[in-house]
Amino acid sequence: MATTHKKTNLLGLSQGDLEQFLIARSEKPFRARQIMQWIYQRNVSDFDAMTDLSKSLRAQLKEDAEIVPPQVQSRHDSKDGCVKWLFSSGSGQAVETVFIPESDRGTLCISSQVGCALDCAFCATGAQGFNRNLTSAEIIGQVRHAIAELPHRDNGEAAVSNVVFMGMGEPLANYRNVVPVLELLVSDWSYGMSRRRVTVSTSGIVPHIDKLAEDCNVALAVSLHAPNDELRDQIVPINKMHPIASLLDACWQYAAKRSNRFITFEYVMLRDVNDSLTHANQLADLLKDKPAKVNLIPFNPFPGTEFKRSSLDTIRHFQERLRKHGLVATTRKTRGDDINAACGQLAGKVSDRVKNRLGRKIVGHRSNSKNRRISSA
Ligand code: SAH
Ligand code: SF4
Repeated sequence: MATTHKKTNLLGLSQGDLEQFLIARSEKPFRARQIMQWIYQRNVSDFDAMTDLSKSLRAQLKEDAEIVPPQVQSRHDSKDGCVKWLFSSGSGQAVETVFIPESDRGTLCISSQVGCALDCAFCATGAQGFNRNLTSAEIIGQVRHAIAELPHRDNGEAAVSNVVFMGMGEPLANYRNVVPVLELLVSDWSYGMSRRRVTVSTSGIVPHIDKLAEDCNVALAVSLHAPNDELRDQIVPINKMHPIASLLDACWQYAAKRSNRFITFEYVMLRDVNDSLTHANQLADLLKDKPAKVNLIPFNPFPGTEFKRSSLDTIRHFQERLRKHGLVATTRKTRGDDINAACGQLAGKVSDRVKNRLGRKIVGHRSNSKNRRISSA
């Protein structure tokens, strides 16, 4: 019987793994750097075009390797300049990537999982359940595609200057595949971004925050959303496993490893749930005199949710109260909502594998408007 020869997808391999791949074929490890430049800086997928590699290495690569990016399903352009792509992730499912241009930067918001198991009460991705982790190739492929497709800025630089893991999924729940992507984003042989321009956003998987500090300490954003455990248990269910005190401990240790560079705390403004001045005072007590800044996110509604966005006045008063306590606090502008590309609206197309198999979710319970009662603690 003929044996099938499985080729290795070089897209998304860390430099270390690419070097090992070459060493196993009696090649010099520095070839990894050349190959990375071809793949990421020159967007080349054809080994024959990699002209500074020997003919024999090119032939070997064609035999054993491939460069397979994720497939784009559709592109949507917003009136405000945002662009959203849907990438297919197999079996009719898709994940979303959003580009947000601003005068001084271009931010790409990327996905790390098909769906999400963490089931935060106010999140469209969480409401769909979890299907699977994206591979490193599927994650870095979103960046590669956006950079190739978007025109350069006037100053000649690539349109994408910043990358944030704020699309679908919980990046620290897909740690194994996310770390090589972080390395590629900051590597000089690939995109060479500064660590400050790459942000991992997490709802608080504490052991992996500690690990990330060691492995690749890029900028960290933490989805706090509530200033006490009673309320956070209800809207961010992972809090039952990693409560606020342990989460903040991990944050301050993370910040200390980066010379106390600020950690951003995301706080979604939900009307009559977490938006009172008492909540603002509690939040300030947790964060003041720490390397912290707060980013208030006006809630973005999606079909089936019972939450409402706080009024502009409430958000302004909340922000002012935080500032009065000496905190740095900003409010995120809502962008791309005409193409459903705003924070928390990313739903792609996910069929919930876990729910289909077990009839329920792994963590917490479903965002079901009928059984969810949030008391404002
Ligand atoms: N899983 C990670 C990253 C993806 S979510 C995390 O939770 O941090 C990116 C941000 O969007 C998080 O702060 C998340 O809480 C927020 N978000 C989720 N749903 C939202 C909604 N409907 N409106 C506004 N922000 C939302
Ligand atoms: Fe998952 Fe983040 Fe949505 Fe929570 S907010 S369900 S962690 S994607």
